[in-house]
Parts: sequence; structure tokens; C-alpha cells
Amino acid sequence: MSHIFPRHTKASLPTVARGEGVYLYDQSGKAYFDGSGGAAVSCLGHGDKEVTDAIKTQLDSVAFAHTSFFTSDPAERLADKLIEHAPEGIDRVYLVSGGSEAMEAALKLARQYFVETGQPQRRHVIARRQSYHGNTLGALATGGNEWRRAPFAPMLVETTHISPCFEYRGKRDEETTVEYGLRVANELETEIQRLGEDSVIAFVAEPVVGATAGAVPAVEGYFKRIREICDQYGVLLILDEVMCGMGRTGTLFASEQEGITPDIVAIAKGLGAGYQPIGAMLCSAKIYEAIESGSGFFQHGHTYVGHPTASAAALAVLTKLTDGGLVDRCAVMGDKLQDALQQAFGQHPNIGDIRGRGLFRALEFVEDRETKAPFAPDQALHKTLKKEAFEAGLICYPMGGTIDGKRGDHILLAPPFIMEDAHLDEIVTKLQTAIDRTL
Ligand code: PMP
Repeated sequence: MSHIFPRHTKASLPTVARGEGVYLYDQSGKAYFDGSGGAAVSCLGHGDKEVTDAIKTQLDSVAFAHTSFFTSDPAERLADKLIEHAPEGIDRVYLVSGGSEAMEAALKLARQYFVETGQPQRRHVIARRQSYHGNTLGALATGGNEWRRAPFAPMLVETTHISPCFEYRGKRDEETTVEYGLRVANELETEIQRLGEDSVIAFVAEPVVGATAGAVPAVEGYFKRIREICDQYGVLLILDEVMCGMGRTGTLFASEQEGITPDIVAIAKGLGAGYQPIGAMLCSAKIYEAIESGSGFFQHGHTYVGHPTASAAALAVLTKLTDGGLVDRCAVMGDKLQDALQQAFGQHPNIGDIRGRGLFRALEFVEDRETKAPFAPDQALHKTLKKEAFEAGLICYPMGGTIDGKRGDHILLAPPFIMEDAHLDEIVTKLQTAIDRTL
């Protein structure tokens, strides 16, 4: 019996014994290829000596000091390095302990910006139906994942949700990809006008959607139009790169590939690469300066803001991603993974879409490729796929999200950036076994 609360699954879980490179091992010695880096976390794989050494060195000097008394060298250096590589215009960093905290900070900073700049009537947040932004109440309210929201609905602040940009599910036959992108982007303008032109704080989106639909990038032009609309109505653009950021899609920030700069961006997961819990909210100089010249104080905070040991780990991770060339490697291996998946499963009668960017890829399972009809929800196909893959020694992240009333079964792959060519075969072979045993 386990005293851990809650057990995520009723079946008993194996106990992890160690991790090395792209593998995790349980106590019996069985190896699992970490094909999803947990939930797109372990971008460097396991047992990275440079990161563990950086943590040990920090622990030997000082593990923790509260930020109301001290700043710390690793936190300062991490922030400097993040800004050095951040999109043009992003200028300040707020270090927290994870993705939900980063999103809460983003939402509160956006609201405080308008309070400081004499627009306290602005209070609405617009997000998208195909989204997940975290499990704390503010972030949960922002997300569009119905299943996660349902039990807490009466406690959630009102947020409106527009359509996602999800070409496979949303594009009509009679429109081009670009027309589709503009149509769904323009929903933002309609929603701003409906709520009242000077009443909206922010639009929130994941540049490449992760946990609700599986590695869904927007189509070309979508985010450019979103940026235009935000600028026209003075609405802040908050990008949630908690899952798709930190190189996962082949550039350090996923938004780089959209050719736009957000006002606020949230990162986590790959920032600590699993070595320490850490996240960050980054904002533009415009927002920071408004706060600084106003009350001078961001009215927010957590005990572990700017945690020195977590920052030391993240600094070592970021150095490997940028100076060590691992983001570029992710882009190259990502293309190879897409080709391997396409070759192995591209014609499979129950796989409707294979998509993603970098080492952030997903397969969407359908009962019928022609009609794109999903499998019956009570079949919970994604759960069986996860179980069979795990048995076969492959960790992949399953999702059974609801998208505009249509339920989908997806498998997300987000392997470590250090994976080698030989691992492509291993992923495909183990996935093939799982699919054959499931369908
Ligand atoms: N935003 C996105 C896009 C996420 O994928 C997640 C986690 N899956 C979160 C926010 C929340 O992050 P955390 O679980 O670290 O609180």
C-alpha cells in the first residue's frame, strides 16, 4: 500500500530505480525509452553530469535564500541568459517553480499592467478551446480542457474561449490553409468587440498545443494576425510555452517560428529538464516599466521565487541547449523522427494525422481515416496504447482530449534531444508493437 496521494492510476506502478541517458530503469532492471520525457520535461535525458554537478556545487555554497533578502548569482545569470536568447523586446524574468505558477504570474502581471496604466476596467481574458494552461484555479480557468475544468467550474473566473487553430480538425474543404488560419484568428477580434473593446486584458495561447490535442502547430499567418488584432485593441498577447518552449520545437522559443513577439511568455518543463522544479514568466520592457514607474512592485510572490539551486540547474540546462547546440540537434532529430513515423505509420488505416515540430510530435488515432471519426470514448484507446507501449519499454504521453465536441485519441512523443539515429528504430518498433496489440 502507498501513502502517496493521489495514485494516478489504480494499477500499481513500477518504482523507478535510476535514469541514464534516454532510458529510465525500474527496480527489476527493465529499461524504458523515455519517448515523452515524462510530459515533455526531460529534454537532456537522465543523469546529465554537468547539470547534477551544477546542482551539487550550488548546494555546497547555499541551497536557498529568500528573495526579499538576497538575490543570487545563479538566478541573475539565468535571467541574463534567458533574455539574451529571448524574442526581441522581452526584457525581464520572473522565476517560479513550475508551469502553472508561471501562468498565474502571467495573468496577474497582465491585469496589474492595466491597473497601473489607468485602465482598471480591463478584466477579461480570452483563450482557446483547445488548450491547457495549468491546474491552479486561475490557469485552469484560462484553459479550455472541459474534463479538467468540469468539477471546479463554479470556482473558475469567467474566461471566454475561441476556436483553436487546428487544421486537421477545423479546416473546411472549400478554404485554403491560410484562409482557415485567418478565419479562426479573426474570431479574436469578434470576441473582443463582443466583450467591449476596452475591456480585455489578454489573449492566451500555446504556440504549439501540447496536452489537449497533441503537438498542434498553428497554420502560417495565424499568429501574425493574432498579434495584429492584439495591437489594434491594446490587448496583451500571453504565450504559454510551458510545454513547447525551451527548444522542444526546434527553436529556443516556439514563437520564433511564428515571426512574432509576445508581451508575456511562460516557460517551465524543459527549463529545469526535470533536474529541479522551475518555471519562468518573461515580459516585455513596456510592461515592466509600467509597473516600475507605477507602484514599483509586482503584487505577487511565492516562497521559492528565484530559488538558487533550481536556478543553478536551469542555467546549466540552458547553457547546454544554447551553447551546447542541443536546440539545433532537436530540430534535426525532429525532422528525422517525423520521417520515420510517416514512413512506418503514414498509411495506417487508424492513424489520421502525424504532426508536430522538432522533437514534439503526435499521432492522432481515428476509427475511419476518410471521415476522421474518432474511436468511441469509452474505448479509451489512448490509455491502452500507453499501457501497451509501456509494456514494450516505451514511455509515451497519451491524451484523450475533447476538441470542439470531437474526442480524439493522441499519443505525444517528446524524446530527449540527445537521442541518436538508432533510437528512431527503437521508437518505431516499440510503437508498432503497442499499436498492433491495441488495435
Ligand atoms: N501550460 C502548459 C501548456 C502545460 O502543458 C502545462 C503542464 N502540462 C502547464 C501549463 C502547467 O504546468 P505545471 O504542471 O508545471 O504546473
